[in-house]
Amino acid sequence: MKESLKSDSLQIEHLLNIIKEQGVEYLNSISERATSVDNKLIPEKQALPEEGYGTEEVLKLFNKRFEPLMVASSGPRYLGFVTGGSTPASVAGDWLSTIYDQNTQSVKGHGDISAVIELEAIAMLLDLLELPKSFLGGFVTGAMMSNFTCVAVARQWYGKEKEIDIAKEGITIPIHILTAIPHSSAIKSLSLLGIGSGNIIKIKTEEGNREAISIKDLEDHIQKLNGDPFILISSGGTVNTVDFDDFTAIRKLKEKYNFWWHIDAAFGGFAACSDTYKHLVKDWEYADSITVDCHKWLNVPYESAVFFIKEQYKLLQVETFQNSNAPYLGDPLESFNYLNFLPENSRRLKALPAWFSLMAYGKDGYRDIVENSIFCSNQFGEFIESSDDFELLAPVRLNTICFTLKGEEKQDMVNQFLELLNATGKVFMTPTNYNQRKGIRAAFVNWRTTEHDVKLITEAMAELATDLK
Ligand SMILES: *Cc1c(COP(=O)(O)O)cnc(C)c1O
Repeated sequence: MKESLKSDSLQIEHLLNIIKEQGVEYLNSISERATSVDNKLIPEKQALPEEGYGTEEVLKLFNKRFEPLMVASSGPRYLGFVTGGSTPASVAGDWLSTIYDQNTQSVKGHGDISAVIELEAIAMLLDLLELPKSFLGGFVTGAMMSNFTCVAVARQWYGKEKEIDIAKEGITIPIHILTAIPHSSAIKSLSLLGIGSGNIIKIKTEEGNREAISIKDLEDHIQKLNGDPFILISSGGTVNTVDFDDFTAIRKLKEKYNFWWHIDAAFGGFAACSDTYKHLVKDWEYADSITVDCHKWLNVPYESAVFFIKEQYKLLQVETFQNSNAPYLGDPLESFNYLNFLPENSRRLKALPAWFSLMAYGKDGYRDIVENSIFCSNQFGEFIESSDDFELLAPVRLNTICFTLKGEEKQDMVNQFLELLNATGKVFMTPTNYNQRKGIRAAFVNWRTTEHDVKLITEAMAELATDLK
């Protein structure tokens, strides 16, 4: 063993301690840290060192070059994209995932039982989201991969309806995909699955500033298919305006027509945690598959999301994901093994941060996180509505505010305003386009955000709007 590795292994306690101290310092000051930095750093073409520096020296290098540029993206005023924070319990679980470094596969054999933790985390999530145990779930890296996993099984289902084993034979027939306002990642998954991102039948939305699928237009298109099966990708919270498809109406359509119903509820699914908002996902349990992100509103570190696919489709799922030419892995239906049910083979114990956090805060804790985000988002929405400088582009439906500068004549200034606002480092939001207008999105999904943060944000916005006049 070379000296650098040998000495690192001898001082592991010291190394973990200095990392811990640095981590504590970061987390305890995250509220004051900038949400953006003026980053001019480019990757150094630095040669691989012949003899390594050892961890403590590397930490110094990291701290010199990168640490000061780390933005508080998991801090309370980062409202860009839909970015969650990490709860203390989830950080603890995440550290332990690395320490124990299990390859999470089966519930017995293979030398580890980490899949038991994953199955327990899935059961707790179903409980939290008030979904039935008829779903089989697993962890993947993000909602993109969850959409991919769900639609992959839908694709296999579609093939079977046409007596084709798509997993084996490839796609030999067109596949009908119906959707209104899918997330870009659902479209990306169609491209990865060989269905083609351009091959969607676009359904209208409901009238009146809505992003929800028009049930009437949907049924008209279904009838045009003349009884052919299809896959419906529906939305449980669109990213721009958090609109939900009418799941009760879709459930009724499912009684009449033959289709696979997928719901992308990456963050909107957490409406189920709130008594006031759970009506938004009423009847979603009738879907065949559901996507839920964990690194958003569950507030666990990246990369974490789950898929829920009805267990009755287990065979289709195995046909899609099994390692069919590896006999040493055994019969996939006889001994449950995650690698036969999702894209990855080797995988880390991704469920542990979620398991820790769900156990640490429980149903009540998560209800509170979700309701606090909605409260902050409503406060922010009220500020926009009552302001002379801003206007809402869509009604406040849950946790994301879609707004713009007030007045058509200010459209040219929206991007400049947002750049200046983000450059303050006090808050971060993302640009969007909605109804042919330039807009800004502010998504509230971080457990740390308080009313006080909303005040700091709105003050910064008001000040900037005055400067721009
Ligand atoms: C964020 C999001 C995704 C993609 O999620 P990743 O975790 O970034 O892969 C998919 N669908 C919706 C509705 C989202 O909000």
